[in-house]
Parts: sequence; structure tokens; C-alpha cells
Amino acid sequence: MSKPKIVVLGAGYAGLVTTRHLTKKLSAEEAEIVLINKHNYHYESTWLHEVAAGTITPNQARFMISDVVNPNRVRLIYDTVQEINKEEQRIVLENSEVTYDYLVVALGFVTNTFGIKGMEENAFFIQDIDSARLIAEHIEYQFAKYSSGEDTNEDNLNIVVGGGGFTGIEFVGELSEIVPKLCKKYDIPRNKVRIINVEAAPSVLPMFDKDLVSYALQSLEARGVEFRMGAAISECTEEGFIVGEDKELIKGGTVVWTGGVTGNPVLGKSGFELFRGKVNVDADLRVPGEENIFILGDCSWLMNKETGRPYAPTGQLATQEGVYAADNIKALIHGEPLKDFVYSDKGTVASLGITDGIGNIFSGTKIKGKSAAAMKKVVDDRTLFLIGGAKLVLKKGKFRPF
Ligand code: FAD
Ligand code: NAD
Repeated sequence: MSKPKIVVLGAGYAGLVTTRHLTKKLSAEEAEIVLINKHNYHYESTWLHEVAAGTITPNQARFMISDVVNPNRVRLIYDTVQEINKEEQRIVLENSEVTYDYLVVALGFVTNTFGIKGMEENAFFIQDIDSARLIAEHIEYQFAKYSSGEDTNEDNLNIVVGGGGFTGIEFVGELSEIVPKLCKKYDIPRNKVRIINVEAAPSVLPMFDKDLVSYALQSLEARGVEFRMGAAISECTEEGFIVGEDKELIKGGTVVWTGGVTGNPVLGKSGFELFRGKVNVDADLRVPGEENIFILGDCSWLMNKETGRPYAPTGQLATQEGVYAADNIKALIHGEPLKDFVYSDKGTVASLGITDGIGNIFSGTKIKGKSAAAMKKVVDDRTLFLIGGAKLVLKKGKFRPF
């Protein structure tokens, strides 16, 4: 009998952890493993706000997949998944096709515009390394145009960010670091550049306690970030966001939408039943009715039985799911019972620039300031360790001094 073929789609957090664990748990005689990813590199999705602001370079946030996955053990295919044909157990790629016995779908997120008029056409998204790089380059271009006199419209120096969740707040935190440097570089007074965060809810970062949120707001405001809370964006034009009932235009030369994420559109194209753009999975991370398909990370909708709500899409969740998926595939191959996923909450930290942050760690301990910023770097390095081991931490780890 030929050995089973396991195909993993996506080399993000969930896909890399699954693949690396599979190589540890199954010998080459037991299973063939294939990893398919759009590019030959992995990027740290959790660092994209830094790439988008320009506080780190795109290369700092990415590394070659072959550095952390042994190509002699895992067949690496760099191609774009178009569709999953479940009936024929076949993946349609842009340039070829691949069959599978066991499938892991870990294709990550895309930005959700919720159908807001003009958003797709006029706003930038923090979605992958290229879309993030474009934002940093666009911001600098606005500064260069203004400084050279080619563009005299001061509104074009404004950076407007729609959405005050984690991504929006971490992004304005990075902007508060880079804008003074760009002002110096292009001889532009700092007070000519506005960084405006626009949030529909009465407050930003609703997942944190009021005192941590108020600390974050004060810290960012002191660095020149303006907040418009309770301001729902109804449209995005070339000039900026339209908010509120009186249709006020908040103008900016750089308009970035960080209003939410959803699952990869490949899921819908492949005929999976969707819940808010994601696929509902059972506690063993399989799709109900599909014995051999696991869906992980930001593509999955997994209920937290304790809260009765789905788990938030995070890198922390994706890496933990990867371990369970590998264990459960091994169990399926060996005819053993599968394990239900159990989430281990390590806490949450949001950065507010390079040396500041807020967080809840160790089941309820609140941290803020430099200790939170340091903890965020520890978390980032721990994630690198989980997806690539100690060698990757040494190569890409965040050892920036305060
Ligand atoms: P991803 O890590 O996004 O990986 C998906 C992979 O699939 C990528 O390699 C992509 O190139 C590939 N791919 C996509 N489409 C195709 C295709 N059609 N064909 C082939 N390959 C494809 N979470 C935290 O826990 N902590 C944080 O601090 C944190 N910070 C964040 C900061 C930002 C700016 C953002 C946007 C998110 C952050 N998150 C954080 C959330 C976290 O990044 C995601 O939950 C996590 O990346 C999901 O992991 P994943 O493996 O599902 O997908
Ligand atoms: P999100 O859904 O968490 O936040 C989006 C924000 O946009 C919300 O506050 C929402 O009220 C606002 N919004 C939506 N529609 C709006 C409108 N029309 N006008 C104005 N505001 C509007 O999305 P995110 O921040 O991109 O985060 C996505 C996921 O990634 C989350 O699960 C988050 O936990 C995770 N993440 C985690 C970290 C971290 O742990 N440090 C960092 C970034 C992202």
C-alpha cells in the first residue's frame, strides 16, 4: 500500500507549526508531507503593522521557508491555491494540481471591508508583506512630494487609520515613532502631520480594562495621535473617510483600513459552508462531515465552550492548533482516537510603539509601559521559536535595546 499524503496549505503560523510537528511525529516511511505556500518565504503577520509604518523593513519580518522546514523531508511547493476540490481530494493551484489523503487548510486572513463603499478601491490594507510595504512607501512619498513643493496640500500629510482594534492601535503606535523621523528627514514641522485613528465604538481596544485603555490613549495622544471614537466610517473616498450621520470627511493622503479580518476567500470558492467568512470546525479541528480535512488559524471558526463565543483569530491560537492538527493526523493514520483542542491562554499584549504597551498576562495581571513593550518582544521571540526553533530566534529575534 502506498503511504498517505498529507498536504498543508499555507506556511503561516498554523501551517508551519503543523508541518514541523508532523515531521517530528511521523517518519518518512509513514507519510509523505507536502507544504504549499504562495511565496518561498514566511512572513510574521503579527509584525505587519511595523512593516506598514516603516519601523522595520520587510526583510526583518520574513524568512525563507526552507530555513525552518527540511526540503528533503517535506515537498515544498511555492504556488497559489485557487480551489480545494473535496470530492476528488485535489488542490487546484495556479500552475499545477496536487492530490491529498489528509488536508490542513491554514491560508490565513484577508482584510474585511464589510462591503463599505469605496474601501477596496481607496484604502490601504495591512494584509501581507507587500500590502504593508506599500503603506510605508506611500507615507514617505507623501512627505517627499510635500517637501519638494510638488504637492502643497497639507491634508496629504495626514495619515488616517480606520478601526481602533489591536491592528489599528498598534499601527498608530508605530506611526508615532516614525513620523518625527520622517519630519526631520524631509524638513517638515511635526505639527503639520496628523495621525488620526477613527473608531466606530465608544472606545478603542474594547478587550482591555478601562484603566489600560485610558493609559494607551493618553500615551498615544501625548505623541500626537488623535482619536475620533464613536465615529462609524460609512464610506472611503480618494480624499479620506466619511463618518457619522452628517457625512463628515476626515481627510488624509494615506488612508488605511484596519477595521477587521475574515477567512481566506479560497474557502468560499471551494464550497465550504461559511460563518462570517470562516469554516466552523469541531473540537478536533476537523470540518464536520469531512473526516480528513482540518482547518486552522484565521480560516477556522472554533467555539470556546466556556464563553459560548468563537476564539479570536490570533497567532497564539494558530500555533497551538498546529500542534493538535499534527497529533490528530498521526492518530488518524494509526487508527487511534483524536484529541479535542484545549486552548492555553498565555495572555494578550498590545504594543504602543517601540517602548510602550499594555497587556493582560498570567490570567489577569495587568502590565503597561516598558514592561509591556518588553513582554511583547518576548512573545514575538517565543512565536519565532515555535515556528522555527532557536536558530530562527537568533537570526530574526527582537533584541532591540530600549
Ligand atoms: P497566516 O499567518 O496569515 O498565514 C497564512 C499563509 O498562507 C501565509 O504564508 C500566506 O502567504 C499563505 N497564503 C494565503 N493565501 C494563499 C493562497 N491562496 N495560496 C497559497 N498560500 C496562501 N496575533 C497574536 O496572537 N498576537 C499578536 O501580537 C498579533 N499581532 C497582529 C498584528 C497584525 C498587524 C495583524 C494583522 C495580526 C496580528 N495577530 C496577532 C493575528 C495573527 O497575525 C493571525 O491570527 C495569524 O497570522 C493567523 O495565522 P494563520 O496561520 O491562520 O495565517
Ligand atoms: P478587530 O476586529 O479586532 O478590530 C477592528 C476595529 O475596527 C474594531 O474596534 C471595530 O469596532 C472597528 N470598526 C469596524 N467597522 C468600523 C467602521 N465602519 N468604522 C469605524 N470603525 C470600525 O480587527 P484587528 O484589529 O484587525 O484584529 C484582527 C485580529 O487579530 C483580532 O482577533 C486581534 O485579536 C488579532 N490581533 C492581535 C494583536 C495582538 O495580540 N497584539 C494585534 C493585532 C491583531
